[in-house]
Amino acid sequence: MEQSPSTAVLTAAGVADAHESAVLVAGERLDADSQPVVNPARLHEVVGRVALGTAAHVDRAVTAAAAAFPAWSRMSPHERADRLSAAADAVSAAAGPLAELLTREQGKVLWESRVDVGGAAHILRYYTGLADRLAEDEVFRSDARGTVWSGRRPMGVTGVIVPWNSPVYLAFLGISPALLAGNTLVVKPSELAPLTLSAVLTVLAENLPEGVVNVVPGGGEAGAAIAEHHGIRKVFFTGSTATGQQVMRAAAGNLKNLSLELGGNDPAIVLESATVDDGLVDELVQSVFTASGQICFNVKRIYVHRSHHADFVERYTAAVDRLVVGDGLDPRSSMGPVNNRPQFERIQGLLERTRAAGATVTTLGSKLDPDGWDDGYFLLPSVVTDVAPGAELVTCEQFGPVVPVLPFDSDDEVVGLANDSEFGLAASVWSRDREHALGVARRLESGSVFLNVHRIGASDVSMPFGGFKGSGIGRGHGINALEACTELQTIADHVDVSGFPGPAR
Ligand code: NAD
Repeated sequence: MEQSPSTAVLTAAGVADAHESAVLVAGERLDADSQPVVNPARLHEVVGRVALGTAAHVDRAVTAAAAAFPAWSRMSPHERADRLSAAADAVSAAAGPLAELLTREQGKVLWESRVDVGGAAHILRYYTGLADRLAEDEVFRSDARGTVWSGRRPMGVTGVIVPWNSPVYLAFLGISPALLAGNTLVVKPSELAPLTLSAVLTVLAENLPEGVVNVVPGGGEAGAAIAEHHGIRKVFFTGSTATGQQVMRAAAGNLKNLSLELGGNDPAIVLESATVDDGLVDELVQSVFTASGQICFNVKRIYVHRSHHADFVERYTAAVDRLVVGDGLDPRSSMGPVNNRPQFERIQGLLERTRAAGATVTTLGSKLDPDGWDDGYFLLPSVVTDVAPGAELVTCEQFGPVVPVLPFDSDDEVVGLANDSEFGLAASVWSRDREHALGVARRLESGSVFLNVHRIGASDVSMPFGGFKGSGIGRGHGINALEACTELQTIADHVDVSGFPGPAR
């Protein structure tokens, strides 16, 4: 068993931190094969190493989590909330330098990393405030026939599988309610952005009883082992729809309870009753290009009423052209690189096919460092017009800095276009007329609909969030997530069953 804490190592450039995402089980680091984590803005820079967790590691982690479960689950919710509150303070104190690390491994610009890393303590603290909701069983009925209570019970060992795009924030949307509810955890960071999350989880694990939080980083093998493991009762999975389907199949083995937060193809709908001004245009630039388009609820397609379409396209392309693409650590960058090579190549291929199909692809923005451009997964932002409603770019989840803009003529038409999708995560309606916008919003097959906004922050941790259709199962955030990681138990005392006499005796 290796007990190697993160240490400083000498590199050609001097002393640098060695960052490591290790398998962490009951406070111990386990031996594992590993691979480098590369900076997507400087491909020659190895930021750290990630352990490639196996099914055997998952098994060890489940055993540790199961051993920790009885004591953790028997604490009162307020006692757990106190422990989590203290852990949140420790996480918060450690978080300062971690935003830079996240930018170096993930690529996003620094303010985006700060929001992501800051999410850990913020979400933990939010959930500690919900301890009252678990503290007492509800008296469901109490009368001459007896008393019936209902109460929320923890499910047991819970798996949390995390994608690379907002690794810390998304992990804590599962971790925080699961821990408050009394579950113990096996968390799997993505192999593509594991370092910051692992650093945060190490602090969290150190501040909670041994075995309550276990970490198995890695790729599909570790994820699949969590989805399959019969010692796990619940999985919070955040990732693509295709992987979510695999998780669902694997989870059938012991009928795991699942929360699936999956992909999206969010439409933004600019109604005839909207005013196309700088405010609207700038919001829609944020909505599309924050994190280089790699947020599940970024706007992925824009529909503009034909009366505004030409004006919108002109103003929008001018605004997108002001974006500067470069290393996320440089404050002059408005957009970082995309995170990984498959993503980079997929978007380039999508743009080539979109061009070949006759659409107009307008590549905009500027390169912060033209000399270093080819040393990163940098993509300039693109706006696509003259594109068919059924084109690949319009119907897929592109997850990158490219957006189609399409005209429409009526509300009925645009509702049909927006709903003609396998996804249904979020949508937005843009209008000066609230009633008009609400009327359209209520017809959309979408877990969230935002009015005149559609960016990170539009869905805060207290608001139910999740997808219709292929965008997921269940609702995260708020009380919904707490309910999603508990079983509802009914206790009945002296219920009058005289109306059911039973067999003659
Ligand atoms: P992904 O599905 O490729 O991977 C997600 C996680 O699943 C990773 O940790 C991965 O290692 C793991 N995994 C891979 N194979 C697995 C298997 N067979 N069983 C179990 N786990 C497995 O997704 P990604 O590329 O990391 O993330 C991008 C996707 O996530 C996009 O589709 C995006 O929309 C979606 N996403 C959704 C939300 C939401 O809240 N709805 C939030 C963020 C991202």
